[in-house]
Amino acid sequence: MCIFCKIINKEIPAQVVYEDDDLLSFKDISPKAKNHVLVIPKKHISSLNSLQNEDVSLYGKMLVVGANIAKSLEMENSGYRFIINCGSDAGMEVDHLHLHILGGEKLSGLN
Ligand code: 5GP
Ligand code: ZN
Repeated sequence: MCIFCKIINKEIPAQVVYEDDDLLSFKDISPKAKNHVLVIPKKHISSLNSLQNEDVSLYGKMLVVGANIAKSLEMENSGYRFIINCGSDAGMEVDHLHLHILGGEKLSGLN
């Protein structure tokens, strides 16, 4: 089982920011910005390469929930960045689809 599935199953602790039947959001263990939160589907999806048409509403929900989390962290006006890495050239470390939400300070270049 992958590390994020273990977080979903509460086998590994995480600082949960949001949870519903489909998604879990928690603070990144090694934050790259003042605010760094991840949003993941509870269903194990390995990467962007594994996206399926049948799950399109789930992916849309990740964006909507992500934007609501950014607003809850008071970044609506100051701004924030969404990142989804895929594969080694992008620096993907965990093989479970995840949306990074970064903000709370001026962001430099690509994170
Ligand atoms: P990637 O490089 O795969 O896009 O991002 C993986 C992210 O997951 C990294 O920012 C890393 O700090 C974070 N991460 C890895 N393991 C854990 C963990 O056990 N708990 C939490 N909260 N974050 C993790
Ligand atoms: Zn997983």
